[in-house]
Amino acid sequence: MEKTHRTVHWFRKGLRLHDNEALYHAVTTSQVVFPIYILDVDWQTEKEKFSALKTRFLIECLRDLDEGLKKCGTRLYVLTGDATTVIKKFCKENEITQMTWMKDAEIFYRERDEEITKVVHRMEIKTKSFLGHTLYDQDEVIAKNGGKIPMDLSEFYAAIADMEQPGAPCPTSCIAPAVDNHESTYGIPKISVWGHQAPRSLPIYRGGERQALKALQAKINDPTLFTLNGFNQGVKTKLPHTTYLSAYQNYGCISTRHFWKAAEKLPESKTIMLRGQIMYREFFYVAASQVNNFTKMAGNRICRQIEWYKNEEHLSAWQEGRTGYPYIDAVMRQLVTEGFIHHLNRWAVASFLTNGQLWLNWEHGQESMFYDLI
Ligand SMILES: Cc1cc2nc3c(=O)[nH]c(=O)nc-3n(C[C@H](O)[C@H](O)[C@H](O)COP(=O)(O)OP(=O)(O)OC[C@H]3O[C@@H](n4cnc5c(N)ncnc54)[C@H](O)[C@@H]3O)c2cc1C
Repeated sequence: MEKTHRTVHWFRKGLRLHDNEALYHAVTTSQVVFPIYILDVDWQTEKEKFSALKTRFLIECLRDLDEGLKKCGTRLYVLTGDATTVIKKFCKENEITQMTWMKDAEIFYRERDEEITKVVHRMEIKTKSFLGHTLYDQDEVIAKNGGKIPMDLSEFYAAIADMEQPGAPCPTSCIAPAVDNHESTYGIPKISVWGHQAPRSLPIYRGGERQALKALQAKINDPTLFTLNGFNQGVKTKLPHTTYLSAYQNYGCISTRHFWKAAEKLPESKTIMLRGQIMYREFFYVAASQVNNFTKMAGNRICRQIEWYKNEEHLSAWQEGRTGYPYIDAVMRQLVTEGFIHHLNRWAVASFLTNGQLWLNWEHGQESMFYDLI
């Protein structure tokens, strides 16, 4: 392929070099590639505020990505400000001819991408986006399902039955020079830029692609994976019995396709179990790609409308782990101090907040979990 382009590859969620088709396309069609990450703190603090632990995890992911890019002779360019404005400026200054990115599923992000596509097309910049955060394209799944969102897992499985199986991960490749004043102009900011102080506790989960791949390998080799904490095999371990890889997947430090393939190496019953979990994730992304206000009750066409109680005191007791129910309180405190809780514990505290006990709107739970879960 002729390498003629000057390309910006925009990292958003897919914070990795492996199995990244958009980056691969950028590298194989360009004489120079600028890998960028956009940090819009104003927007984030207003719309997607999250905890210091989660911010630290994100910074670790960005640092790891930058390290990986250094090995390829380039750096990560962090641009700060409103996405459309900084992209326009950067593309103009660097005579960009092409932009690539990994597709997002959620409506809000798709609308943002449509807006940016229009802007850069007016600058005669080509755009190319590729699937990568999920195994299946959400629009294709919905088309296969007769234009309807699959509302349960069996409907979802029927829709994907004759779609192509997830393929092999794509190769890794990278090039491009970095500018001299990189650190001061495009370096990764400190946590204070997000309005947080550095957490005093050591991280339990360190962010980044290398950590993610190492953790996946360890889980594949772990005989206690998906057993009841190893006790039913006579092995005593404090390790959780699930993979604990969701944070890496959320940021795209690990490719879902790579994860899917790696599951092949497990005993068959565990392969089925792990792939079943990954399919839940696919299923939810399909709904998130089509339903307006997916994370809210009002204006959400697939959500039951319920008159929840309003009780600030109960809500803060739940959030701060002061309900007086030891199990619920322990889980909520673990959420805040460690940034991760087991799936069953998520169910328990979510149910306690809503129809199980407090009868408070699930949106409060969604906000708390978005803020604290890494
Ligand atoms: C109230 C509540 C809130 C949740 N919030 C989140 C969240 O913010 N982010 C998130 O990724 N998951 C969330 N989940 C889903 C699930 O609990 C987590 O994905 C899982 O606990 C992560 O553990 P693990 O990494 O050990 O995954 P494993 O159990 O090892 O599964 C492997 C992968 O499959 C996916 N997965 C597993 N279970 C589910 C599920 N039920 N739904 C969707 N995907 C799944 C994850 O990507 C995970 O990394 C939530 C569930 C509940 C009940």
